[in-house]
Order: sequence, then C-alpha cells, then structure tokens
Amino acid sequence: MRAAVVEHAGDLLSVTDVPEPEPAPGELLIRVRACGICGSDLHLSDVFDIPGLVLGHEICGEVVALGPGVEGWRLGDRIAGFPLVGCERCEACLVGATSKCAHAAQLGLQRPGGFAEYTTLAATSAFRLPDALDDHAGALVEPLAVAHHALDCTPRPFDEPLLVIGGGPVGAAVALWGHQLGAREVVVTDPVAHRRELAERVGATLTVDPTTEDVASAFAKHCDTLPKVVVECVGIPGMIQHAMDVAAPDAHVTVVGVCMTTDQIVPLIGLQKELAAKFVLYYRKADFAATIAALAEGRLAPHVLVTGTTGIDALPERFQALKQPTEDCKVILEP
Ligand SMILES: [Zn+2]
Ligand SMILES: [Zn+2]
Repeated sequence: MRAAVVEHAGDLLSVTDVPEPEPAPGELLIRVRACGICGSDLHLSDVFDIPGLVLGHEICGEVVALGPGVEGWRLGDRIAGFPLVGCERCEACLVGATSKCAHAAQLGLQRPGGFAEYTTLAATSAFRLPDALDDHAGALVEPLAVAHHALDCTPRPFDEPLLVIGGGPVGAAVALWGHQLGAREVVVTDPVAHRRELAERVGATLTVDPTTEDVASAFAKHCDTLPKVVVECVGIPGMIQHAMDVAAPDAHVTVVGVCMTTDQIVPLIGLQKELAAKFVLYYRKADFAATIAALAEGRLAPHVLVTGTTGIDALPERFQALKQPTEDCKVILEP
C-alpha cells in the first residue's frame, strides 16, 4: 500500500510502498478515508528522528477486515479512530483515560498512523460513525475531542464568558465547543487576521488582535467582566503568563497549548489573583462519544475548520508548506 513516511527529522515525507498491515487479534483493518494533519504531526516530524514512521492520528476510515476474535463490527462500517491504545486493564484505561495508561501507544507515533491507505486499530478504539456524518466530520472528531476535553476539565459554569487565547485549529475548536456548550460570550485572541475571521465563523462573538489591543480591557468592555474562564491554546513560552495577566481574580486557566520548552511565569500574579490552573492533554473516550453525538445531532458545524484537502502523492509538499505561516486551518489527507 502507499504510505507517507518520515525519512529523517525535518525532511520531506516520502510516499512509498509499504506492506499492508494485518489486523492482530482484537483489531480492525481500516481503509483510511480521511486523516487530518495536526500541528503535532508537523512538530513531531521535525523533532523526532523516527525513520519509517507513518504519522496521522485524526483518522476516519472504513472497516475492511476483522482481526481474530473481533465481534460487533461489519465490513463497510465507518469509524473515527481513537488513536490511543492502552492495556485496557488498568484504572486509567477502564475509565477511558487511555493517555494515562503506562502502556499507552499512539497511532502515528508508537504505531503506524493514518497517512497511508490502510491502518490497524483496536476494535475497542473504534467509534462507529452515523451515516449522516461525512468523512471530514469523522476526521474532525479527534481535534474536536481535544477541545471538548479541555472544556470538560474547566470547572466553571459555561454561561460565563469564555476567553480563548489562540485561533489556530485547537483554539477554533474550543471556540466552536464553547459556543455550543452555552458560553455567554466567546472571545478569541490571535494576532493573525485570517484566524480571527475563522474564529468568528465558528462562533466567536468578539475577536481581539493582542498586538494592537489590550486583551483584558477589550474583553471587559465587551463582556462587562474580566475573564474568569481562560483557555490557553497557543503553547509557546509566555502564553501562560499572558493568560494569568489577563485573567480576573479567582479565574480558572486551562492550558491546552503544548509547550515543550522551559517557560517562565511570575507566581506572584497567580497568588495575588488566587488563580486555578488545569493542564490538559488528549481526551477520554467519553469526549469522542460526546463529539460524535453533537455532530450527529447537528449541534456542531465544524466543516469551516477544513481549509483544504490533499491526496497522498501531494501530501509531502502540502505537509511541509503547513510548517510556514499559512492561511490554512485543517488540511485533510484523502489517501
Ligand atoms: Zn491531533
Ligand atoms: Zn492501561
């Protein structure tokens, strides 16, 4: 089968023929119908030198073969793939928090992912998609579940106005869910104009350019209060401090942005305001279920997040281009 594989860190992916995977006991063989390109794929391909790695964890596919012992699935069923595989026995796995399993492996990192014609997935990690959902919606389940988990971990009533820092794919998904979950106002900050426009299209009631406007006062003017619920979706040094600076006293800051370097904060700001912070990563299986239900009921309209598609042959160039400043939000591979 054709797959786009990592050659070396930072190099173009290379499209090559690799053996078609075989489903192990308990697994499904999935024909990939759509796979989103994630910022983490771009980052991983630059920092980890894993020759032969097939990236891609935002997978929508179709069941084309059943591994030994699999029941309850039929050929042709369409699925969204929960991309983490755990031991299925520990406390974390039993509540669907697979990312906290000591044996967790991720598709597109420790296991081959979705930048290929086929992949394999534990049957227990496959979420059936209703017919009403198209393949793009299926591929968006994973990034939307990230946002759902972030808000699920944000212990504030959602009728509070919400401040979302960053209008990239994660921030836009948080804005979309925030709007759906009933936030009175959804304010998104981003220095890039097209990201602010996209945020408005997914439900932001105000967008702010933090390079030209004071975020706290723009928020207060619009919402009659300083931000009591802040979700940081950028993940570069300085953003947690920024979130603390703009937050109201007693606010809750949820950190979703993945910063992998040392960052500095001034704890006194948090102390003075008695802020609470929650760091979140991934999702639980319940977030996938909630996302699929909301999509199926038409409560989430996420297609505006998709700004492009690519076939597998054009993927390496498209993938590389996404590492530069771009007007794209979510680009989807259709292998
Ligand atoms: Zn992702
Ligand atoms: Zn486990």
